[in-house]
Amino acid sequence: GENCLKGNLESFMQKVMAKNPGEKEFHQAVQEVATCIMPFIDKNPKYQKAKILERMVEAERAIIFRVPWVDDKGEVQVNRGYRVEMNSAIGPYKGGLRFHPTVSLSVMKFLAFEQVLKNSLTTLPMGGGKGGSDFDPRGKSDNEVMHFCQAFMSELFRHIGPNTDVPAGDIGVGGREIGYLFGQYKKLKNEFTGVLTGKGITWGGSLIRPEATGYGTVYFLEEMLKTRGETVEGKTIAISGYGNVGTYFIEKINELGGKVVTIGDEYGYVYDPDGIKGEKLDFLKDLWVIHRRPAKDYANEFNLKWVEGKRPWEVPCDIAVPTATQNEIDGPDAKNLIENGCWCVAESSNMPSTLQAIEVFQEAKILFAPGKAVNAGGVAVSGLEMAQNSMRYNWSREEVDQKLRNIMQNIHEQCVRFGKHGDYINYVEGANLAGFVKVADAMLEQGIV
Ligand code: GLU
Repeated sequence: GENCLKGNLESFMQKVMAKNPGEKEFHQAVQEVATCIMPFIDKNPKYQKAKILERMVEAERAIIFRVPWVDDKGEVQVNRGYRVEMNSAIGPYKGGLRFHPTVSLSVMKFLAFEQVLKNSLTTLPMGGGKGGSDFDPRGKSDNEVMHFCQAFMSELFRHIGPNTDVPAGDIGVGGREIGYLFGQYKKLKNEFTGVLTGKGITWGGSLIRPEATGYGTVYFLEEMLKTRGETVEGKTIAISGYGNVGTYFIEKINELGGKVVTIGDEYGYVYDPDGIKGEKLDFLKDLWVIHRRPAKDYANEFNLKWVEGKRPWEVPCDIAVPTATQNEIDGPDAKNLIENGCWCVAESSNMPSTLQAIEVFQEAKILFAPGKAVNAGGVAVSGLEMAQNSMRYNWSREEVDQKLRNIMQNIHEQCVRFGKHGDYINYVEGANLAGFVKVADAMLEQGIV
Protein backbone atom coordinates (compact mmCIF):
# COMPACT_ATOMS: atom_id res chain seq x y z
CA GLY A 1 0.00 0.00 0.00
CA GLU A 2 0.83 3.70 0.21
CA ASN A 3 2.78 3.37 3.48
CA CYS A 4 4.95 0.63 2.07
CA LEU A 5 5.74 2.81 -0.95
CA LYS A 6 6.60 5.73 1.29
CA GLY A 7 8.93 3.44 3.22
CA ASN A 8 10.58 2.25 0.00
CA LEU A 9 11.17 5.84 -1.09
CA GLU A 10 12.62 6.77 2.29
CA SER A 11 15.05 3.86 2.36
CA PHE A 12 16.02 4.48 -1.26
CA MET A 13 16.75 8.16 -0.51
CA GLN A 14 18.71 7.21 2.60
CA LYS A 15 20.97 5.02 0.47
CA VAL A 16 21.40 7.76 -2.14
CA MET A 17 22.31 10.26 0.59
CA ALA A 18 24.77 7.89 2.26
CA LYS A 19 26.49 7.18 -1.05
CA ASN A 20 26.62 10.83 -2.10
CA PRO A 21 27.19 12.72 1.15
CA GLY A 22 26.51 16.45 1.21
CA GLU A 23 25.38 16.61 -2.43
CA LYS A 24 22.11 18.39 -1.72
CA GLU A 25 21.23 19.42 -5.28
CA PHE A 26 21.75 15.86 -6.46
CA HIS A 27 19.59 14.50 -3.61
CA GLN A 28 16.85 16.98 -4.51
CA ALA A 29 16.81 16.01 -8.20
CA VAL A 30 16.79 12.30 -7.39
CA GLN A 31 14.02 12.68 -4.82
CA GLU A 32 11.77 14.51 -7.27
CA VAL A 33 12.24 11.77 -9.85
CA ALA A 34 12.11 8.81 -7.44
CA THR A 35 8.83 10.05 -5.92
CA CYS A 36 7.22 9.72 -9.35
CA ILE A 37 9.03 6.58 -10.51
CA MET A 38 8.81 4.29 -7.48
CA PRO A 39 5.04 3.64 -7.59
CA PHE A 40 5.48 2.78 -11.30
CA ILE A 41 8.42 0.46 -10.64
CA ASP A 42 6.35 -1.18 -7.95
CA LYS A 43 3.83 -2.18 -10.64
CA ASN A 44 6.57 -3.24 -13.11
CA PRO A 45 8.85 -5.70 -11.28
CA LYS A 46 11.20 -6.10 -14.27
CA TYR A 47 12.65 -2.64 -13.51
CA GLN A 48 12.92 -3.52 -9.83
CA LYS A 49 14.68 -6.80 -10.49
CA ALA A 50 17.29 -5.22 -12.77
CA LYS A 51 17.81 -2.38 -10.23
CA ILE A 52 17.28 0.18 -12.99
CA LEU A 53 16.73 3.19 -10.71
CA GLU A 54 19.73 2.27 -8.52
CA ARG A 55 21.85 2.06 -11.67
CA MET A 56 20.47 5.30 -13.08
CA VAL A 57 21.54 7.34 -10.04
CA GLU A 58 25.12 6.10 -10.37
CA ALA A 59 27.11 7.95 -13.08
CA GLU A 60 28.65 5.65 -15.69
CA ARG A 61 31.76 7.80 -15.32
CA ALA A 62 32.65 11.12 -13.66
CA ILE A 63 35.84 12.96 -14.49
CA ILE A 64 37.28 15.68 -12.24
CA PHE A 65 40.34 17.54 -13.44
CA ARG A 66 42.70 20.43 -12.72
CA VAL A 67 42.48 23.46 -15.02
CA PRO A 68 45.55 25.69 -14.59
CA TRP A 69 45.84 28.86 -16.68
CA VAL A 70 47.61 32.23 -16.66
CA ASP A 71 45.58 35.46 -16.32
CA ASP A 72 46.31 38.85 -17.96
CA LYS A 73 48.49 39.90 -15.03
CA GLY A 74 50.70 36.86 -15.53
CA GLU A 75 49.36 35.16 -12.40
CA VAL A 76 48.65 31.43 -12.32
CA GLN A 77 45.00 30.51 -11.67
CA VAL A 78 43.72 27.05 -10.80
CA ASN A 79 40.12 25.99 -11.45
CA ARG A 80 38.39 22.63 -11.25
CA GLY A 81 36.86 20.96 -14.31
CA TYR A 82 34.12 18.30 -14.40
CA ARG A 83 32.41 16.02 -16.86
CA VAL A 84 29.75 13.67 -15.50
CA GLU A 85 28.91 10.96 -18.06
CA MET A 86 25.65 9.83 -16.54
CA ASN A 87 23.90 7.47 -18.94
CA SER A 88 24.55 6.26 -22.50
CA ALA A 89 21.68 3.77 -22.86
CA ILE A 90 20.02 5.56 -25.77
CA GLY A 91 22.91 7.50 -27.31
CA PRO A 92 26.24 9.23 -26.73
CA TYR A 93 26.42 11.37 -23.58
CA LYS A 94 24.97 14.79 -24.37
CA GLY A 95 24.64 17.92 -22.29
CA GLY A 96 26.03 21.35 -21.64
CA LEU A 97 29.04 22.84 -19.91
CA ARG A 98 28.44 25.37 -17.12
CA PHE A 99 31.07 27.92 -16.10
CA HIS A 100 29.91 29.49 -12.83
CA PRO A 101 31.32 29.83 -9.29
CA THR A 102 28.46 27.67 -7.91
CA VAL A 103 29.56 24.64 -9.97
CA SER A 104 30.31 21.63 -7.76
CA LEU A 105 30.18 17.85 -8.15
CA SER A 106 26.65 17.91 -6.68
CA VAL A 107 25.45 20.52 -9.20
CA MET A 108 27.06 18.61 -12.08
CA LYS A 109 25.44 15.33 -10.99
CA PHE A 110 21.97 16.82 -10.58
CA LEU A 111 22.19 18.45 -14.01
CA ALA A 112 23.53 15.26 -15.64
CA PHE A 113 20.75 13.21 -14.03
CA GLU A 114 18.07 15.64 -15.25
CA GLN A 115 19.68 15.64 -18.68
CA VAL A 116 19.25 11.86 -19.09
CA LEU A 117 15.46 12.12 -18.78
CA LYS A 118 15.23 15.39 -20.71
CA ASN A 119 17.18 14.00 -23.66
CA SER A 120 15.02 10.89 -23.64
CA LEU A 121 11.91 13.11 -23.93
CA THR A 122 13.25 14.85 -27.06
CA THR A 123 12.76 11.57 -29.01
CA LEU A 124 16.32 11.95 -30.35
CA PRO A 125 19.07 9.37 -29.67
CA MET A 126 21.05 11.15 -26.95
CA GLY A 127 22.31 9.91 -23.59
CA GLY A 128 22.90 12.34 -20.74
CA GLY A 129 25.90 14.16 -19.31
CA LYS A 130 26.96 17.51 -17.94
CA GLY A 131 30.20 19.31 -17.27
CA GLY A 132 31.73 22.62 -16.40
CA SER A 133 33.93 24.51 -14.04
CA ASP A 134 33.87 26.87 -11.06
CA PHE A 135 35.54 29.42 -13.38
CA ASP A 136 33.69 32.78 -13.36
CA PRO A 137 33.66 34.38 -16.83
CA ARG A 138 32.35 37.65 -15.35
CA GLY A 139 34.98 40.37 -15.31
CA LYS A 140 37.42 38.26 -17.35
CA SER A 141 38.93 39.59 -20.57
CA ASP A 142 38.35 37.88 -23.88
CA ASN A 143 41.97 36.72 -23.80
CA GLU A 144 41.49 35.16 -20.36
CA VAL A 145 38.30 33.38 -21.43
CA MET A 146 40.15 31.96 -24.44
CA HIS A 147 43.07 30.75 -22.35
CA PHE A 148 40.74 29.18 -19.83
CA CYS A 149 38.74 27.39 -22.57
CA GLN A 150 41.96 26.06 -24.12
CA ALA A 151 43.22 24.81 -20.76
CA PHE A 152 39.85 23.19 -20.01
CA MET A 153 39.75 21.42 -23.38
CA SER A 154 43.36 20.24 -23.15
CA GLU A 155 42.12 17.71 -20.58
CA LEU A 156 38.49 17.24 -21.66
CA PHE A 157 39.36 16.33 -25.27
CA ARG A 158 40.50 12.81 -24.37
CA HIS A 159 37.09 11.96 -22.86
CA ILE A 160 34.76 13.25 -25.59
CA GLY A 161 34.04 12.69 -29.28
CA PRO A 162 31.16 12.90 -31.77
CA ASN A 163 30.10 9.30 -30.96
CA THR A 164 31.15 9.32 -27.30
CA ASP A 165 30.18 12.54 -25.54
CA VAL A 166 29.02 15.79 -27.13
CA PRO A 167 29.12 18.86 -24.85
CA ALA A 168 27.37 22.19 -25.53
CA GLY A 169 26.75 25.46 -23.73
CA ASP A 170 24.93 26.25 -20.49
CA ILE A 171 25.25 29.13 -18.00
CA GLY A 172 28.50 31.02 -18.75
CA VAL A 173 29.18 29.07 -21.95
CA GLY A 174 27.83 30.65 -25.14
CA GLY A 175 28.89 30.89 -28.77
CA ARG A 176 32.23 32.53 -27.96
CA GLU A 177 33.27 29.82 -25.49
CA ILE A 178 32.12 26.99 -27.79
CA GLY A 179 34.32 28.55 -30.48
CA TYR A 180 37.45 28.53 -28.31
CA LEU A 181 36.70 25.00 -27.05
CA PHE A 182 36.13 23.70 -30.59
CA GLY A 183 39.31 25.36 -31.88
CA GLN A 184 41.37 23.66 -29.18
CA TYR A 185 39.71 20.25 -29.70
CA LYS A 186 40.39 20.43 -33.43
CA LYS A 187 44.00 21.35 -32.86
CA LEU A 188 44.59 18.50 -30.40
CA LYS A 189 42.74 15.80 -32.37
CA ASN A 190 43.38 17.06 -35.91
CA GLU A 191 39.78 16.19 -36.65
CA PHE A 192 36.87 18.38 -37.79
CA THR A 193 33.82 16.76 -36.22
CA GLY A 194 30.54 17.58 -34.55
CA VAL A 195 32.05 17.02 -31.10
CA LEU A 196 30.37 20.13 -29.64
CA THR A 197 27.01 21.70 -30.41
CA GLY A 198 26.13 25.37 -30.44
CA LYS A 199 28.86 25.90 -33.03
CA GLY A 200 29.05 28.99 -35.26
CA ILE A 201 26.88 28.83 -38.34
CA THR A 202 29.80 28.78 -40.82
CA TRP A 203 31.60 25.90 -39.08
CA GLY A 204 28.94 23.28 -38.44
CA GLY A 205 26.36 25.04 -36.28
CA SER A 206 22.61 24.81 -36.71
CA LEU A 207 20.23 27.66 -37.41
CA ILE A 208 17.83 28.29 -34.48
CA ARG A 209 20.25 26.74 -31.93
CA PRO A 210 20.77 30.07 -30.10
CA GLU A 211 17.00 30.67 -30.03
CA ALA A 212 16.06 27.04 -29.31
CA THR A 213 15.62 26.99 -25.52
CA GLY A 214 13.67 30.27 -25.46
CA TYR A 215 11.50 29.47 -28.49
CA GLY A 216 11.00 25.87 -27.34
CA THR A 217 9.81 27.12 -23.94
CA VAL A 218 7.18 29.24 -25.69
CA TYR A 219 6.06 26.33 -27.90
CA PHE A 220 5.66 24.13 -24.81
CA LEU A 221 3.88 26.92 -22.91
CA GLU A 222 1.41 27.29 -25.80
CA GLU A 223 0.53 23.60 -25.45
CA MET A 224 0.06 23.97 -21.68
CA LEU A 225 -2.24 26.97 -22.13
CA LYS A 226 -4.24 25.13 -24.82
CA THR A 227 -5.29 22.56 -22.20
CA ARG A 228 -7.22 25.42 -20.53
CA GLY A 229 -8.44 26.96 -23.78
CA GLU A 230 -5.96 29.83 -23.47
CA THR A 231 -3.19 31.43 -25.54
CA VAL A 232 -0.15 33.62 -24.85
CA GLU A 233 -1.89 36.71 -26.26
CA GLY A 234 -2.53 39.40 -23.66
CA LYS A 235 -0.85 37.46 -20.84
CA THR A 236 1.50 39.08 -18.34
CA ILE A 237 4.64 37.05 -17.72
CA ALA A 238 7.36 37.29 -15.05
CA ILE A 239 10.82 35.90 -15.85
CA SER A 240 14.20 36.02 -14.09
CA GLY A 241 17.39 35.47 -16.13
CA TYR A 242 18.06 37.56 -19.24
CA GLY A 243 20.76 35.47 -20.88
CA ASN A 244 20.41 33.34 -23.98
CA VAL A 245 17.20 31.68 -22.75
CA GLY A 246 15.38 34.74 -21.37
CA THR A 247 16.02 37.08 -24.28
CA TYR A 248 14.82 34.71 -27.03
CA PHE A 249 11.87 33.75 -24.84
CA ILE A 250 10.84 37.43 -24.72
CA GLU A 251 11.33 37.80 -28.48
CA LYS A 252 8.88 34.97 -29.24
CA ILE A 253 6.38 36.03 -26.56
CA ASN A 254 6.29 39.54 -28.05
CA GLU A 255 5.59 38.05 -31.51
CA LEU A 256 2.58 36.28 -30.02
CA GLY A 257 1.22 39.33 -28.21
CA GLY A 258 2.24 38.49 -24.63
CA LYS A 259 4.04 40.83 -22.26
CA VAL A 260 7.16 40.12 -20.17
CA VAL A 261 7.36 42.49 -17.19
CA THR A 262 10.41 41.46 -15.16
CA ILE A 263 14.05 40.44 -15.39
CA GLY A 264 16.40 39.88 -12.51
CA ASP A 265 19.74 38.66 -11.20
CA GLU A 266 21.21 37.73 -7.83
CA TYR A 267 21.05 41.39 -6.69
CA GLY A 268 17.39 42.10 -7.38
CA TYR A 269 14.91 42.65 -10.19
CA VAL A 270 13.46 45.26 -12.56
CA TYR A 271 9.70 45.74 -12.91
CA ASP A 272 8.68 47.03 -16.35
CA PRO A 273 4.86 46.94 -16.38
CA ASP A 274 4.66 48.11 -20.03
CA GLY A 275 6.62 45.05 -21.14
CA ILE A 276 10.15 44.54 -22.47
CA LYS A 277 9.68 45.40 -26.15
CA GLY A 278 11.29 47.06 -29.18
CA GLU A 279 14.45 49.03 -28.40
CA LYS A 280 14.25 47.86 -24.78
CA LEU A 281 14.57 44.24 -25.91
CA ASP A 282 17.48 45.19 -28.20
CA PHE A 283 19.21 46.81 -25.24
CA LEU A 284 18.51 43.78 -23.06
CA LYS A 285 19.93 41.37 -25.66
CA ASP A 286 23.33 43.06 -25.44
CA LEU A 287 23.25 43.51 -21.68
CA TRP A 288 24.28 40.02 -20.66
CA VAL A 289 25.19 38.12 -23.78
CA ILE A 290 27.61 40.81 -25.02
CA HIS A 291 28.49 42.97 -22.02
CA ARG A 292 27.81 40.69 -19.03
CA ARG A 293 26.22 43.64 -17.20
CA PRO A 294 23.89 43.48 -14.16
CA ALA A 295 20.09 43.80 -14.48
CA LYS A 296 20.15 47.14 -12.66
CA ASP A 297 21.66 48.74 -15.79
CA TYR A 298 18.37 48.05 -17.59
CA ALA A 299 16.41 49.83 -14.83
CA ASN A 300 18.77 52.82 -14.97
CA GLU A 301 18.70 53.03 -18.78
CA PHE A 302 14.88 53.20 -18.96
CA ASN A 303 14.12 54.89 -15.63
CA LEU A 304 12.37 51.86 -14.18
CA LYS A 305 11.82 50.57 -10.70
CA TRP A 306 14.72 48.51 -9.35
CA VAL A 307 13.84 46.24 -6.44
CA GLU A 308 16.99 45.52 -4.48
CA GLY A 309 17.58 42.10 -2.92
CA LYS A 310 14.26 40.56 -4.03
CA ARG A 311 13.15 38.01 -6.62
CA PRO A 312 10.62 38.86 -9.33
CA TRP A 313 8.06 36.35 -7.95
CA GLU A 314 6.12 39.06 -6.10
CA VAL A 315 4.68 41.00 -9.06
CA PRO A 316 1.16 40.42 -10.40
CA CYS A 317 1.33 38.04 -13.39
CA ASP A 318 -0.56 35.26 -15.16
CA ILE A 319 2.50 33.18 -15.92
CA ALA A 320 5.92 32.76 -14.31
CA VAL A 321 8.88 31.42 -16.27
CA PRO A 322 12.11 31.03 -14.27
CA THR A 323 15.02 31.45 -16.70
CA ALA A 324 18.06 31.62 -14.41
CA THR A 325 19.26 28.77 -12.20
CA GLN A 326 18.47 26.05 -9.62
CA ASN A 327 16.31 26.80 -6.57
CA GLU A 328 15.30 30.30 -7.65
CA ILE A 329 11.69 29.75 -6.47
CA ASP A 330 11.19 28.58 -2.86
CA GLY A 331 7.98 27.76 -0.95
CA PRO A 332 7.18 31.36 0.07
CA ASP A 333 7.91 32.58 -3.50
CA ALA A 334 5.48 29.97 -4.83
CA LYS A 335 2.77 31.14 -2.41
CA ASN A 336 3.44 34.76 -3.38
CA LEU A 337 3.03 33.94 -7.05
CA ILE A 338 -0.33 32.25 -6.53
CA GLU A 339 -1.59 35.05 -4.25
CA ASN A 340 -0.70 37.55 -6.98
CA GLY A 341 -2.80 35.73 -9.58
CA CYS A 342 -0.27 33.44 -11.23
CA TRP A 343 -1.94 30.30 -12.63
CA CYS A 344 0.85 28.83 -14.78
CA VAL A 345 4.53 28.13 -14.10
CA ALA A 346 6.78 26.79 -16.86
CA GLU A 347 10.33 26.04 -15.75
CA SER A 348 12.80 27.16 -18.39
CA SER A 349 15.84 26.76 -16.15
CA ASN A 350 16.96 23.45 -14.61
CA MET A 351 15.34 22.64 -11.21
CA PRO A 352 14.38 26.27 -10.43
CA SER A 353 11.66 25.24 -7.97
CA THR A 354 12.48 23.74 -4.58
CA LEU A 355 10.55 20.59 -3.57
CA GLN A 356 8.40 22.82 -1.31
CA ALA A 357 7.60 25.17 -4.18
CA ILE A 358 6.54 22.22 -6.38
CA GLU A 359 4.25 21.03 -3.58
CA VAL A 360 2.63 24.48 -3.36
CA PHE A 361 2.02 24.60 -7.14
CA GLN A 362 0.63 21.07 -7.28
CA GLU A 363 -1.66 21.51 -4.28
CA ALA A 364 -3.07 24.68 -5.85
CA LYS A 365 -3.60 22.67 -9.08
CA ILE A 366 -2.17 25.43 -11.24
CA LEU A 367 -0.48 24.51 -14.53
CA PHE A 368 3.05 23.55 -13.55
CA ALA A 369 5.64 21.93 -15.82
CA PRO A 370 9.22 20.95 -14.96
CA GLY A 371 12.42 22.09 -16.68
CA LYS A 372 13.23 18.73 -18.20
CA ALA A 373 10.11 19.06 -20.38
CA VAL A 374 9.86 22.84 -20.84
CA ASN A 375 13.51 23.62 -21.63
CA ALA A 376 14.28 20.53 -23.74
CA GLY A 377 14.22 22.63 -26.92
CA GLY A 378 17.86 23.62 -26.46
CA VAL A 379 19.23 20.12 -26.38
CA ALA A 380 16.69 19.02 -29.02
CA VAL A 381 18.17 21.45 -31.54
CA SER A 382 21.62 20.29 -30.41
CA GLY A 383 20.46 16.82 -31.48
CA LEU A 384 19.38 18.30 -34.81
CA GLU A 385 22.83 19.92 -35.10
CA MET A 386 24.40 16.47 -34.62
CA ALA A 387 22.10 15.03 -37.31
CA GLN A 388 23.06 17.81 -39.75
CA ASN A 389 26.77 17.30 -38.98
CA SER A 390 26.45 13.58 -39.71
CA MET A 391 24.83 14.33 -43.06
CA ARG A 392 27.29 17.19 -43.78
CA TYR A 393 24.25 19.24 -44.68
CA ASN A 394 22.22 22.14 -43.25
CA TRP A 395 18.51 22.61 -42.87
CA SER A 396 16.89 26.04 -43.31
CA ARG A 397 15.64 28.16 -40.39
CA GLU A 398 12.07 27.17 -41.20
CA GLU A 399 12.91 23.47 -41.28
CA VAL A 400 14.71 23.52 -37.92
CA ASP A 401 12.02 25.71 -36.32
CA GLN A 402 9.27 23.34 -37.50
CA LYS A 403 11.16 20.30 -36.18
CA LEU A 404 11.64 22.08 -32.84
CA ARG A 405 7.93 22.89 -32.66
CA ASN A 406 7.02 19.25 -33.42
CA ILE A 407 9.40 17.99 -30.75
CA MET A 408 7.97 20.34 -28.08
CA GLN A 409 4.42 19.28 -28.98
CA ASN A 410 5.48 15.65 -28.79
CA ILE A 411 7.02 16.20 -25.33
CA HIS A 412 3.77 17.77 -24.20
CA GLU A 413 1.82 14.76 -25.49
CA GLN A 414 4.15 12.41 -23.60
CA CYS A 415 3.56 14.41 -20.39
CA VAL A 416 -0.19 14.14 -20.88
CA ARG A 417 -0.04 10.41 -21.68
CA PHE A 418 1.95 9.57 -18.52
CA GLY A 419 0.69 12.31 -16.19
CA LYS A 420 -3.05 12.79 -16.72
CA HIS A 421 -5.34 12.23 -13.74
CA GLY A 422 -8.87 13.13 -14.79
CA ASP A 423 -8.80 16.84 -15.53
CA TYR A 424 -5.43 17.45 -13.92
CA ILE A 425 -2.13 16.97 -15.74
CA ASN A 426 0.74 16.20 -13.40
CA TYR A 427 3.56 17.31 -15.72
CA VAL A 428 6.24 16.34 -13.20
CA GLU A 429 5.02 12.76 -13.12
CA GLY A 430 4.40 12.72 -16.87
CA ALA A 431 7.86 13.99 -17.81
CA ASN A 432 9.67 11.74 -15.35
CA LEU A 433 7.79 8.58 -16.33
CA ALA A 434 7.96 9.15 -20.08
CA GLY A 435 11.67 9.97 -19.90
CA PHE A 436 12.36 7.02 -17.60
CA VAL A 437 10.57 4.28 -19.54
CA LYS A 438 12.59 4.77 -22.73
CA VAL A 439 15.95 4.77 -20.93
CA ALA A 440 14.94 1.92 -18.60
CA ASP A 441 13.82 -0.33 -21.47
CA ALA A 442 17.07 0.35 -23.36
CA MET A 443 19.02 -0.57 -20.23
CA LEU A 444 17.04 -3.78 -19.79
CA GLU A 445 17.68 -4.78 -23.40
CA GLN A 446 21.41 -4.09 -23.10
CA GLY A 447 21.91 -6.26 -20.02
CA ILE A 448 23.78 -5.56 -16.78
CA VAL A 449 26.54 -3.23 -17.95
N1 GLU B 1 22.53 23.22 -21.40
C1 GLU B 1 21.32 22.90 -22.11
C2 GLU B 1 20.45 22.03 -21.25
O1 GLU B 1 20.40 22.19 -20.05
C3 GLU B 1 21.61 22.36 -23.51
C4 GLU B 1 22.46 21.12 -23.56
C5 GLU B 1 22.88 20.70 -24.98
O2 GLU B 1 22.53 21.37 -25.93
O3 GLU B 1 23.57 19.66 -25.08
O4 GLU B 1 19.72 21.18 -21.70
